[in-house]
Amino acid sequence: MIYPWQTDNWSCLEQLRASLPHALLLHGRAGIGKLQFAQHLAQSLLCETPTKPCEPCGQCVACLWFSQGNHPDFRAVLPEALAGELISDDKADKADADDSKKTKVPSKEIKIDQVLGLMNFFSLGSHRGGLRVVLIYPAEAINVFAASALLKTLEEPPAGVVFILVTARIDRLLPTIISRCRQWPMTLPATEPAVAWLAQQGVKCSAAVLAEAGGAPLTALALASDENRALRDFALAQLAAGPACDAFACGESLQKLPVPMVLGWLQRWLYDLLVQKTAGRPRYFPGASKALERCAAQIDTERFARFQKTVIRQRAVENHPLNARLVFEELFLGYRDVFTAA
Ligand SMILES: [Zn+2]
Repeated sequence: MIYPWQTDNWSCLEQLRASLPHALLLHGRAGIGKLQFAQHLAQSLLCETPTKPCEPCGQCVACLWFSQGNHPDFRAVLPEALAGELISDDKADKADADDSKKTKVPSKEIKIDQVLGLMNFFSLGSHRGGLRVVLIYPAEAINVFAASALLKTLEEPPAGVVFILVTARIDRLLPTIISRCRQWPMTLPATEPAVAWLAQQGVKCSAAVLAEAGGAPLTALALASDENRALRDFALAQLAAGPACDAFACGESLQKLPVPMVLGWLQRWLYDLLVQKTAGRPRYFPGASKALERCAAQIDTERFARFQKTVIRQRAVENHPLNARLVFEELFLGYRDVFTAA
């Protein structure tokens, strides 16, 4: 199934079917459901009795195999660390998880062995006499060796094989890979179906959460089910207090949280403050527009600019082991200082 906000993207795809490119590059923001869309596309290409308009039937043997993760004409190439993201992953490939794998940190890269492993698949020909489909996700995880192997394949694509590459970071792909693919941009979901879907998932204040996630519904869902939500609300309330922000309480309450998480909240808040100051509309926290307006009116522009640089510097070292409590105290003290004495 695709998500309700993807129906336009899906019907646009119809025009491609008459002359299907051998490689398709789906790209767009993280958290909008590109992987699921790509899987649905793969299933529709393999389905043996597709319903109109090119929908997989969900009934035929090909659809059955696909949903169980063992269609012989389908291969998904993912980094080890992401095994589990696919529709049917509880079944797929668990058997060959040998002992050595258990002690290793799973790789976040797509490695050359995985790309070379496809060669066997190509040499075998189609089991069902139809197309074969290779899904690569996320394409930006392909390491440099794997990329050159893949490039060779894309330059001389095996007959009857369709590659679907999926990425949220097209800027990180080699231009040579991009140029071998038909690009398929996936738009940010329209607000209405995304909000409705979130509400269906039981998310309260779904419009506000969606905004906070920058319009990406799956990110919003993750935010809403975040066990740290209460602490986030606390941090946001402190930020909304502007010059009255209690930096020491922030250090005390937030110290157990990962530094990058809190920095993320802070950066989004600063972004909205700046937008507010330049008479735009807040992007992440539209529900807090009154507080943003109040804070923005008290900002000292120079100090604000300096503080933003501090935050960016902090982002650069955020993954180093730091004393989170001290980091947060300093940051929130710095934040309090961007306001002119009220
Ligand atoms: Zn089918």
